[in-house]
Amino acid sequence: MGSLTRSPLDLLVIGGGIVGSGIVRDAAMRGLKVGLVEQHDFAFGTSSRSSRLLHGGLRYLAQGRVGLVRQASVEKTILHRIAPHLAEPLPFVFPTYSCDPDWALWQLKIGVKIYDLLCNGRNLGTSTWLSPEEVRERVPNLDLAGLNGAVRYYDGFTNDARLTIDTLRSAERSGAGLLNYCRYEGATRSNLWECAVRDRVCDRDLNLRARTVVNATGAWADGLPHSAVKLRLTKGIHLVIDGSRIPVRETVVMTERKRILFAIPWGERTILGTTDTDYSGDPDTVTADASDVKYVLRITNRFFPHARLCSQDVISAWAGLRPLVANPNGQPSDISRAHEIRNPEPGWWDVTGGKLTTYRLIAEQAVDRVVRWLRKSNAIPKGILSCRTAEESLLPADPEEYSGVLPPAFHRRAVQHYCANEWALHLEDVMLRRSSWHYYHPDAARKAVQVTDWMGELLGWSQARRAAELESYHGVKDGHAAREPLPFAVSHPRNDQPVASVV
Ligand SMILES: Cc1cc2nc3c(=O)[nH]c(=O)nc-3n(C[C@H](O)[C@H](O)[C@H](O)COP(=O)(O)OP(=O)(O)OC[C@H]3O[C@@H](n4cnc5c(N)ncnc54)[C@H](O)[C@@H]3O)c2cc1C
Repeated sequence: MGSLTRSPLDLLVIGGGIVGSGIVRDAAMRGLKVGLVEQHDFAFGTSSRSSRLLHGGLRYLAQGRVGLVRQASVEKTILHRIAPHLAEPLPFVFPTYSCDPDWALWQLKIGVKIYDLLCNGRNLGTSTWLSPEEVRERVPNLDLAGLNGAVRYYDGFTNDARLTIDTLRSAERSGAGLLNYCRYEGATRSNLWECAVRDRVCDRDLNLRARTVVNATGAWADGLPHSAVKLRLTKGIHLVIDGSRIPVRETVVMTERKRILFAIPWGERTILGTTDTDYSGDPDTVTADASDVKYVLRITNRFFPHARLCSQDVISAWAGLRPLVANPNGQPSDISRAHEIRNPEPGWWDVTGGKLTTYRLIAEQAVDRVVRWLRKSNAIPKGILSCRTAEESLLPADPEEYSGVLPPAFHRRAVQHYCANEWALHLEDVMLRRSSWHYYHPDAARKAVQVTDWMGELLGWSQARRAAELESYHGVKDGHAAREPLPFAVSHPRNDQPVASVV
């Protein structure tokens, strides 16, 4: 905390999603004095509600967006290199049917070969195609009526919130100052940007001074003081069901006209999604409506008719918002996923749009601009390095046990680790974003009681605090708890206070 307030920062990043995390890591690794503030928990926003794919986007190729697909395809392979624990090769089976004029097998066969080439020929696996018989063997319960065959291609499977947290941990190792539950409220500019920040943990105001500011607040970006962003928000939901209901070993692509949905294997579960509908509500409280759930189940039941899925099969759900650069026209699915970096005021940048997959590249481009501006203003610190994020590993010291695409074993040691090393301050920080236990386990509510006890012992929570944490957790809907400050003052370990050790 002191390192953020003592002397002016070279850069303050607002927003602790994947984009802000990528920027703060890149800037810290180049040698800038950098800090980041996040209003809720790190990865609270879209960066814990995606489809968890590292992908070039075969769909975007069909739309002719070759540049975007190439960019994301190369980034996918870079992430596989620097963070193999969070970028597992994942095969996709894309079946085609004689009754579906939108997706012809011959076009997809050409498409997947181009797809491999766009990764500089180094895709995470080689694309092939399958006869109807081979599809049947690989995807036993798939609807076979009118099946022409399928293409099989590779993308990466990640864990979005873990990717964000591990990126932040890497940033911290390079000297960045990071604060969750601290909201940027406004700024004035003289020589420096004077930023008013509300510390919601300690219930106090902070004044952070910085030469430059990057607004990386995703779906919140156009409500922020000084932001010049115009967004069009679209909502996407995911459902988690038991793997035995739709037993896929490889991701199955399901189509509805030009749209595509996925059935993604996730350990003993299957993830189904997503939707793409315009959204105009509060980004803090987006949820999956009954109609969203019905839509995803309807499409899945069309492809897996024997499953007869209904809402009782849903173990958990999450809903997220795509912060798309505004385009009032066209279908949501047709709006470009490209990112934009704008500089509406001296020393202020708005970074919007983009994808999880391209976050490292977005960060590199944003920090390049910040460094150029600091240089022009004669404010560049000595010894600034060039970007190293594509070469330096993201691996934390303990990657396999506590960070991966699957949730870790349910154990007190994991909770201790998240509290001591990963800024977990509330029950939901552990249950939703550090471990994914909330989404994965049908008995998550029971596990939450146990985690409350462990966190209570580790962080010195009173009985009243434990009850408040559980109540707030039970208010979580589809991943969003519009968390209000707890009704009493709390002292939290803010990096400098030790967490009680595990006995
Ligand atoms: C349904 C869905 C599926 C997707 N699937 C994929 C996929 O499979 N692969 C892929 O590559 N991409 C995917 N994406 C896109 C990707 O998830 C997003 O592009 C990415 O997560 C956006 O990250 P972000 O950091 O810009 O925003 P966010 O993660 O939303 O982060 C912004 C943060 O800013 C914080 N904030 C807001 N206001 C303030 C303030 N005043 N002070 C401090 N902090 C503030 C918020 O709390 C939030 O945590 C998907 C998106 C959706 C919606």
